Amino acid sequence: RSFHDYGLSEDITRALTTLGYTQPTDVQHGVIPIALQERDLTVKSRTGSGKTAAFGIPICELVEWGENRPQALILTPTRELADQVKQDMINIGRFKRIKAVALYGKQPFARQKLELHQKCHVVVGTPGRVLDHIQKGTLDVERLRYLVIDEADEMLRMGFIEQVGAIIDELPTDRTTMLFSATLPTDVEQLCHQYLRDPIDIEI
Ligand code: AMP
Repeated sequence: RSFHDYGLSEDITRALTTLGYTQPTDVQHGVIPIALQERDLTVKSRTGSGKTAAFGIPICELVEWGENRPQALILTPTRELADQVKQDMINIGRFKRIKAVALYGKQPFARQKLELHQKCHVVVGTPGRVLDHIQKGTLDVERLRYLVIDEADEMLRMGFIEQVGAIIDELPTDRTTMLFSATLPTDVEQLCHQYLRDPIDIEI
């Protein structure tokens, strides 16, 4: 089992080597080939399994560098996770020069607006602030092709269901959606049923 099995570009494999990732983890081995085919996915797995790179690697691979408007949106329940995911995307996309922006509350809206105004491939954020930017027109979602709902059970437990639904309703329907969750309670199952198209279910 090796990262070379997936047909990834040199820019990405070199970044993985730099990060010291020699072998894909189980969740990465399950997710990467399917995500590269742009199929919808639900993934039941825990933090520490390497789930961030499981969606980060295919997204960094698939993003078109020359497109200036955001192509991937990753929703996280907390600011800390948003920052962590943003950093992971920057690390994986280092040699491809992937630009990532984190959006969450308690940080000046104007500064985020400025960041969004520049070239940006990947947006990572918490639902409230992401929705705010979409509604104010500062986050352009017209070119969005990849959506990740990370820690979906936590997100719903924290009461973000309405914002998540309102965000997804604004996104292009022609997109790939990946949902990650440690557990799959009924409300998460419902979210999958409502917003994912014929997903492949992976349980690690
Ligand atoms: P996560 O589950 O995404 O929070 O990742 C847990 C930790 O595993 C992070 O510190 C990652 O940097 C690390 N990691 C992810 N994928 C690999 C890999 N293939 N080889 C070694 N470490 C990894």
